[in-house]
Amino acid sequence: MGKGYVYLVGAGPGDPKLLTIKGAECIAKADVLVYDRLVSRRILQLANKDCERIYVGKLPDRHILRQEEINVLLVKKALEGKIVTRLKGGDPFVFGRGGEEAEELVEAGIPYEIVPGITSAVSVPAYAGIPVTHRDITSSFTVITGHEDPNKNQSAVHWEHLAKNMGTLVFLMGMENLDLICQRLIEYGLKVDTPVGIIEWGTRCEQRTVTGNLENIKQLAEAEGYKNPAVIIVGQVVSLRQKLRWMEKRPLFGKRIIVTRSRHQASMLSQAIEDLGGEAWEFPSIELVPPSEPKRLQEAVRDIQNFHWLIFTSVNGVEAFFTELTAQDKDIRELSGINLAAIGPATKAALESRGLRVAFVPEEYIAEKVAEGLNGKILPGERILLARAEEAREILPELLKKMGADVSDIPVYKTVPGMADKGELLKMLQNRAFHAITFTSSSTVRNFIKMIDGNISLLDGIQLYTIGPITTETVSEFGLSVFRQADNYTIQGLLNSMVEEINH
Ligand code: SAH
Repeated sequence: MGKGYVYLVGAGPGDPKLLTIKGAECIAKADVLVYDRLVSRRILQLANKDCERIYVGKLPDRHILRQEEINVLLVKKALEGKIVTRLKGGDPFVFGRGGEEAEELVEAGIPYEIVPGITSAVSVPAYAGIPVTHRDITSSFTVITGHEDPNKNQSAVHWEHLAKNMGTLVFLMGMENLDLICQRLIEYGLKVDTPVGIIEWGTRCEQRTVTGNLENIKQLAEAEGYKNPAVIIVGQVVSLRQKLRWMEKRPLFGKRIIVTRSRHQASMLSQAIEDLGGEAWEFPSIELVPPSEPKRLQEAVRDIQNFHWLIFTSVNGVEAFFTELTAQDKDIRELSGINLAAIGPATKAALESRGLRVAFVPEEYIAEKVAEGLNGKILPGERILLARAEEAREILPELLKKMGADVSDIPVYKTVPGMADKGELLKMLQNRAFHAITFTSSSTVRNFIKMIDGNISLLDGIQLYTIGPITTETVSEFGLSVFRQADNYTIQGLLNSMVEEINH
């Protein structure tokens, strides 16, 4: 077996999107992931399913011993021929002991690479609206370990120099010594009213910031229970935060929100939540698979020219239908002369993107309104193809039949329980980690409740948002109350309602 390979990778400060592209590649190809406490769990999700994950979160008091164990572990796994990705918070060479780990690899003759990361020293202040340098204020900054006991006789930290230097001072691992750090800086000549900012869990959903000065910051931070991980930043640049606090102003800042749609569809909603400053967690409660009797769709498509109307009630239905059309070596010309109806704007857009015009979209995006609106447009005896989910409600075909139409209700896909990481979901629910859950269809509700083993008390205190009345009804059937139903029954409508409630 050949020697393995080790990547020492900086995972960035927490926001998963602050991982580098190269870092993401190293995670994706790892056989073994070795990671610390400060590495976001969402970044770990980029790893391969069968990748071995080893947590080596350091406890401050066992530092040295643990570090030796970690070194041994990296060498051992690499010698087994594995690709080992060693993930560290921030940058691996900024107080990350990455240098020591690399030395150990050199010693053992193991090939390795260093993948720098975005250090918390700069990015965490940035997310709090504090630039570490500014042309009008300071032209330098120093990053200092706050871990060292400032009372130590031969301190490696040159307090005198730091205090005289006048540049911005950034302390990492400094919360336990906050008082002593401030005292020392005053002692060596910094003014007591020098601004100080403390940012805890920067770039994450939990980010909190407190500002004060060298004299009062300890009291202020203590009153609010600030702890590590936190960055302490000292200097006039801190006052720019007044103007530049961009992160906290985003409408969904600080909110961790569950997306229950299938993985295939989730990304658009998740992306929108993140763009609004929230943290989206995808726990797909459903997946879409072919219907139980695919023959019925095949026959309907073969016979397509005999239909007068083609009705779609979801984007998924459109996709499944066109997959079959293409499989039969046909294209949209087969649909000439057939009227198209769509339940809402997304479904309409899916048809239009295929070059088709849609004859009807109801004002309210539910099945009942489709039937109501088509009344009078559909003539008795006309043949209707209803291409939709296998588990869709009976109401639409029933209403259409009442109008005298000849309805073929054809399942074009089926929803089955999703592949979400149930263990992780339950753990996070128990820790009350979520602010809200989004439900975009009745099947997401049913399967989500299944995923939590029907234990609805886990959802106490979490705001439930639904896309429309049918989904709301399903939520109510489980004895749960919906916090807010979208005004407009679309994904955008759901987002708008959420923003409105959260900023209320
Ligand atoms: N290599 C890391 C630093 C490791 S030392 C880097 O480049 O960022 C660990 C310290 O980093 C913590 O005690 C804290 O001071 C700081 N830190 C890391 N991530 C942080 C975060 N998200 N918010 C605030 N401080 C953070």
